[in-house]
Amino acid sequence: MSDRTDQAMNTLLAELRRLQVLYAKARPASAQAYEAACTVQPGGTTRSNLHLFPFPVTIDHADGSILTDLDGHTYIDLLSDFAVAMAGHSNDVIRNAIQKQLTQGISFGGRSEAETELAEIIVARFASIERVRFTNSGTEANLYAFLLARAITQRPGILMFEGGYLGGAMSFATSDPRLRAPFDFITVPYNDIEAFDAAISAHGSRLACVATELMLNSGGCIQADGAFIRHVENVCRNRGILFLVDEVMTSRLHVAGLQALYGVRPDITTLGKIIGGGLSIGAIGGRSDILKKFDLRSEDPLFHNGSFNNNVLSMRAGAASLRHVLTESGLSHTNSLGESLRIGMNADLASAALPLSWTGMGSVMALHIGREAPTRFMPHPAEKPLRALLHMDALLKGYWIAPRGMLALSVENTPSQLEDFRSLFRTFTGKYEDLIRALVPTTIGAA
Ligand code: PMP
Repeated sequence: MSDRTDQAMNTLLAELRRLQVLYAKARPASAQAYEAACTVQPGGTTRSNLHLFPFPVTIDHADGSILTDLDGHTYIDLLSDFAVAMAGHSNDVIRNAIQKQLTQGISFGGRSEAETELAEIIVARFASIERVRFTNSGTEANLYAFLLARAITQRPGILMFEGGYLGGAMSFATSDPRLRAPFDFITVPYNDIEAFDAAISAHGSRLACVATELMLNSGGCIQADGAFIRHVENVCRNRGILFLVDEVMTSRLHVAGLQALYGVRPDITTLGKIIGGGLSIGAIGGRSDILKKFDLRSEDPLFHNGSFNNNVLSMRAGAASLRHVLTESGLSHTNSLGESLRIGMNADLASAALPLSWTGMGSVMALHIGREAPTRFMPHPAEKPLRALLHMDALLKGYWIAPRGMLALSVENTPSQLEDFRSLFRTFTGKYEDLIRALVPTTIGAA
């Protein structure tokens, strides 16, 4: 890094610390709750994404698109629980479905009509999904999908892309392998046909599946290139490798999944987040001849089990949400609001000639350093602290976004909330303009 860049990084970190002090001072109840939590929970929470220095906000309650913390601060939620709560936090239809189910029992230990209803909705939405099995989370869905692919193909390898995140235990969005499940992984840069072909030449015969998102989520809302993803699909078909698409995040972008927009037909699709109406869920869907492996009436079946797999509250909430709230029009309304926000913020950046960009699609977006939207996972060294600064600035002004600079909107967000966030971001970039420009000499791929 040049002296100017070093200096800008130091200024950025000092500014972040200044905002953290303001943040901490105004949140004594959250500070105290965190201290108490740390006596019984390592790090005071159970979800590393929620960690924040000097301590995370403790939420007291949520309503519509508004979160309220223990100190009484309110936040306009532009994250919807990392994309889970797309129906908002208190939708009446979902609440009524849960309440009705509560009067009929919380947990059965037997099958129910609720799981069939949710499965029917999913099968009707996704052209490639003929059968579906539920799990408790997206991570678990992918874990079992990997094991399923290995059992079907009798091959050990899994190809994932750099920046890919198929759950905490299957993540290449961080380089730390210690919590990565010990599969036989091969990783390749995203959107790079040559690198992909080379990996297939070297390892194709031992690959059970290629497992990918159609837009890297944790990897920074980086879209797949259409020609690339169709190439991947074709190679998989030709080589007997299963094509596994993770739509845990992207199923919010189109009623038939992002696979419908890309025109691909995965062998296996994994789902999660929005399909549970805000409650825990995951799903493995796909070709009936593949999913049949979970049918105990078939030959040599796999015994896929889990106490909460068909939790009736999740099934009811998910079915109500997809049937009545996150319908084709509910999704497209929110996605078009998001699209306008991202385009608007990028237009503001372009007119100020600032080297930043928002990537993503529809209701999901993330901030990057560099004028050009990245096409592969290659974070700029200052990206993390700059996003943290934006996050802190937004919190202090009453907006809730991800510390990693991501937004995921809900049906409850209004055009005026989004206009206000756009103006907050304009003010932010105006205030830190010199600093942002000074960070750029190390920008990878910046114009
Ligand atoms: N896949 C993708 C693309 C995700 O974004 C996530 C969650 N962020 C997961 C899988 C894991 O889902 P869960 O958090 O429900 O385990």
